[in-house]
Amino acid sequence: QIRQTHQEIPFYNGQYRIALRNLGVINPENIEEYIGSHGYLALAKILKTPISREVVIATIKESGLRGRGGAGFSTGLKWEFAYKAVSDKKYVICNADEGDPGAFMDRSILEGDPHSVLEAMAICGYAIGSDEGLIYVRAEYPMAVSRLQTAIAQAREKGLLGDNILGTGFNFNIHISLGAGAFVCGEETALINSAEGLRGEPRQKPPFPASKGLWNKPTNINNVETFANICPIILNGASWFNSIGTEKSKGTKVFALVGKVKNVGLVEVPMGTSLRDIIFKIGGGIPNNKKFKAVQTGGPSGGCLPTELLDLSIDYESLVAADSMMGSGGMIVLDEDDCMVNIAKFYLDFTLSESCGKCTPCRIGNTRLYETLTRITQGKGSLEELEDMKELSQIIKDTSICGLGQSAPNPVLSTTKYFADEYLAHIKDHRCPAGDCRELITY
Ligand code: SF4
Repeated sequence: QIRQTHQEIPFYNGQYRIALRNLGVINPENIEEYIGSHGYLALAKILKTPISREVVIATIKESGLRGRGGAGFSTGLKWEFAYKAVSDKKYVICNADEGDPGAFMDRSILEGDPHSVLEAMAICGYAIGSDEGLIYVRAEYPMAVSRLQTAIAQAREKGLLGDNILGTGFNFNIHISLGAGAFVCGEETALINSAEGLRGEPRQKPPFPASKGLWNKPTNINNVETFANICPIILNGASWFNSIGTEKSKGTKVFALVGKVKNVGLVEVPMGTSLRDIIFKIGGGIPNNKKFKAVQTGGPSGGCLPTELLDLSIDYESLVAADSMMGSGGMIVLDEDDCMVNIAKFYLDFTLSESCGKCTPCRIGNTRLYETLTRITQGKGSLEELEDMKELSQIIKDTSICGLGQSAPNPVLSTTKYFADEYLAHIKDHRCPAGDCRELITY
């Protein structure tokens, strides 16, 4: 049974909390409260019934759960790949290296409900045949780290982690690895490199981690929110989860709703909910009687969507078709005072400084994009440069090694598509319509 909280408060109306089910409801430092909320029941159901590893994987596949870290790959299929890999040792990794500007979904889950992630990792370990898990969490999240440490110690003491879990002979231990705050380490192969003590650079794929991951052993990696969905699926069944959402995007998605919106905070809604409902019903609209201009979904890798797309359904396919992406769940609302050229430059600045520099399209190409955006915001850009920038963006997307480079030009592509008039105002009239570009304010 999924608890629905605070429905009488407007911010919570329209929310459907699965991954966030226990946040603010239980004391995260008290394992008894987690157990009292059906905690560790999914793990007990699997180990004690027992339910075969194949059936667990089939359940996750049938549920339609897709990776919430951004790529949207089938979680059950990912587990199946790791299950089928033959090896004397396998690993389960929880990717808690959340680094998008404005995003705090994973941090909040780890701080508010750490056991839900530990339990799901143990279920994954059982399913793929692993006895060891690793949580790669950024060191800038000290409360999340300390609550994880407490939760791991409590679960071990209760025989819910460690050797011979619940007397069933199943062993599963979890360790914590601290990341140093590099955005690129959210990419799974860069994360593995970093966890091994190497430079945090992505590896060429294939081989994929499911066959050669941590220490070259088969490894399944899911992010925090993905794991937070696992126990409810095991307890309520695949068809329950499958009945929520759209045809291809099942379940719910957590967004960090921030920026120029009245109600900011974590929002969990069924897939298929419109941007309008999130921003205006749950978010309460734009403060100070300002006009909505755009919403940035997918963090620095996503796109800026205009007013005309407010009724867009939030699902993986619709967002990509609109030149944006789901990403991990950042959602930044912008109003009439924000210059879209400057916003694209802001995100490029971020991805550029977080690029690991391994491949040329990302390292050099994004530098050129940033330089061009800088010139345009100073009123020094040309129409030729604008066209070159669009062409270069596509080349960077097509030729970069990892997701960071492949998605870095998205803010440029979406703003040049949806806010072309703002670019033209900067280039032709040397004017910033939003009054946001300092060099142009005197024009
Ligand atoms: Fe590094 Fe960027 Fe290449 Fe990814 S795309 S490997 S972040 S240089």
